[in-house]
Amino acid sequence: MEDCIFCKIVKGEAPAEKVYEDENFIGFLDVNQVTDGKTLIVPKKHYKTLLDMPSSLGNEMLEAIKKVGLDLIDKGKAEGFNVLINNFEVAGQVVPHAHIHILPRKKEDGLKRMYLEDAKK
Ligand code: 5GP
Ligand code: ZN
Repeated sequence: MEDCIFCKIVKGEAPAEKVYEDENFIGFLDVNQVTDGKTLIVPKKHYKTLLDMPSSLGNEMLEAIKKVGLDLIDKGKAEGFNVLINNFEVAGQVVPHAHIHILPRKKEDGLKRMYLEDAKK
């Protein structure tokens, strides 16, 4: 995908602060640091949403999530973390290359608990 920003980051054609890499995924800091250390994990291949990703990548994806989350905790940037995937525009997906948000959380970070009922208030 020529115009995809995440494909460009994967290929090293656009800058990003990479914090994780394995065979099929990379992790890099989100340009919008909602909380310090917020990371995106993206498959190296272009899939539009989670539905397009082969399930055979599931174990590797879970490992990536666990490693990034644990690393944030080990580095003192998080006491816990949220994992979020927006699929399709209606659900908030802006970049059409599947990605997982890892949002580091701390007790005093000022963010609400992430339940959908809170999003209605
Ligand atoms: P979405 O709303 O598609 O689930 O999330 C897209 C995420 O990508 C947002 O959190 C946004 O801040 C992040 N983002 C968009 N463009 C860039 C970019 O060029 N570099 C980085 N590092 N993050 C980006
Ligand atoms: Zn892409």
